[in-house]
Amino acid sequence: TRTLAEVDPEIAQVIRQETQRQEEGIELIASENFVSPAVLEAVGSTLTNKYAEGYPGKRYYGGCEVVDVAESLAIQRARDLFGAEAANVQAHSGSQANMAAYMALMKPGDTLLSLDLNSGGHLTHGAAFNFSGKLYKVVHYGLTRDTETIDFAQVASLAKEHKPKVIVVGASAYPRTLDFGKFREIADSVGAAMMVDMAHIAGLVAAGVHPSPVPLAEFVTSTTHKTLRGPRGGLVLCREQFAKPLNSQIFPGIQGGPLMHVIAAKAVAFKEALTPEFKVYQRQIVSNAQALAEALLRAGLRLCSGGTDNHLMLVDLRAKKITGKDAEAVMGKAGFTVNKNMIPFDPEKPVTTSGIRVGTPAVTTRGMKEPEMAIIGQLIGEALDHASDEARLSRIHGQVKELTKSFPLYASRLR
Ligand code: PLP
Repeated sequence: TRTLAEVDPEIAQVIRQETQRQEEGIELIASENFVSPAVLEAVGSTLTNKYAEGYPGKRYYGGCEVVDVAESLAIQRARDLFGAEAANVQAHSGSQANMAAYMALMKPGDTLLSLDLNSGGHLTHGAAFNFSGKLYKVVHYGLTRDTETIDFAQVASLAKEHKPKVIVVGASAYPRTLDFGKFREIADSVGAAMMVDMAHIAGLVAAGVHPSPVPLAEFVTSTTHKTLRGPRGGLVLCREQFAKPLNSQIFPGIQGGPLMHVIAAKAVAFKEALTPEFKVYQRQIVSNAQALAEALLRAGLRLCSGGTDNHLMLVDLRAKKITGKDAEAVMGKAGFTVNKNMIPFDPEKPVTTSGIRVGTPAVTTRGMKEPEMAIIGQLIGEALDHASDEARLSRIHGQVKELTKSFPLYASRLR
């Protein structure tokens, strides 16, 4: 019955400080979001105590009858939300979701074709230092120089040349709509399977704001914590015929006991995502991204591909004579959290970069709309224009704090 503050004041302090950091800053990391109190309650529940290796009704431990209900609800809601025949909600993370889908589709040494890391792909899409790059032969497609969008002519010619087992579609830093139909055509023309990693856009897909890959792909993987606004975790959707092999790749293939508290929280998030309000939220994410893009353009910045169709944009900083690394630090001083990011054909190294990635899912959750996006874009421009003026940056930080006060988040937890 002792509280966290009594048992471990240091960690209690960390949680308080992190909550305050989230409350008082402007979160623009495109892959982050703020979960509801209901999701937080499920994640922090007694379900963390339960071992439940196996699947609902087929467990390797006794006493699973209660948590079975949570997992069955999570599966059913995921299927309803995305119109999928089958769902696995046990993957601990997006990386494990991808690993399981790969293992269901390929043997080590097989070839996958995917977007390269420097063009916006994810580590698990075949980076040399990731398991995916070590286990599989990897061929990468990229972007065209003029439009900075996916080079489909290259996808088609690489597919023809290398006959990949799997074509991977999806990205961590791609601001445009993905044309799943075009990828499907290319995959079919060479007999490849298609795996779509929709981690970033899952919320948009759930709300019908981005086309769905579910009817077109053998496997669709995702995280549950980005635009989808659930707990940190993974999700795999597939057709019924692949459900068995997929499930056995997750458990016992790459994981042991599932995180039942996280699965319960996924169920809660999926329920929230099935509401009309969630559609309104996702539409606002995109409207806010449009408004922020316009404000950044007004501030004299270039956006890769000229703008955005989704929840994120890639900002080319070269006009401001500042690197992504330095901009990340400067913006931190001004109260904004962003991450440095390679821009297409970036002359800088990945530790430096010429860009930052900026997204609107988190600020939209707080209730911010177009007028706030205009202010944020203008303040970002001002911070970057006065990158070495500490007094100016701290003045902007003050304005940011003031702005966040009108959009309380977890304020009640700080009292
Ligand atoms: N796939 C994509 C496209 C991602 O952007 C990410 C996360 O950044 C992942 C997979 C991996 O998710 P996780 O960090 O949960 O392993």
